[in-house]
Amino acid sequence: MNEKLKKNNSCGAKVGFTLIEMMIVIAVIGILMSMGFGYYQRAKAQALIKTCKKNMFTLEGAITQHSLNTNNENYSETISDSFINELVSSGYLKDPVKCPFGGTLKLENSSSNNIKERTIRCSIHGTRHEP
Ligand SMILES: [Zn+2]
Repeated sequence: MNEKLKKNNSCGAKVGFTLIEMMIVIAVIGILMSMGFGYYQRAKAQALIKTCKKNMFTLEGAITQHSLNTNNENYSETISDSFINELVSSGYLKDPVKCPFGGTLKLENSSSNNIKERTIRCSIHGTRHEP
């Protein structure tokens, strides 16, 4: 039956692919696509984690600037959307920042040698210094 499906070219030789050959090619393409999709998913997750860390860095800088300009030392541990919107409207942030995975951002205050440090902690990704 396969012989009937094959066409003859102008020289009379058989041309075309059998069903088995087509299935092998499709299976190889499927295997390559599944491998590529795994790499793509991992790269996408790494990019979103880096976005969260970059947002923490940006927010720490904005709060430090706000603190220096307003002489405010006491910030709530919970970073509310209204506080982020206040930072945006007063020009400390260009855009509202948040965790791309929906984690909650919290502010941690610590002081060593009379130097106050503020660190943002994401409920999913930890601080930006953690791997
Ligand atoms: Zn996060």
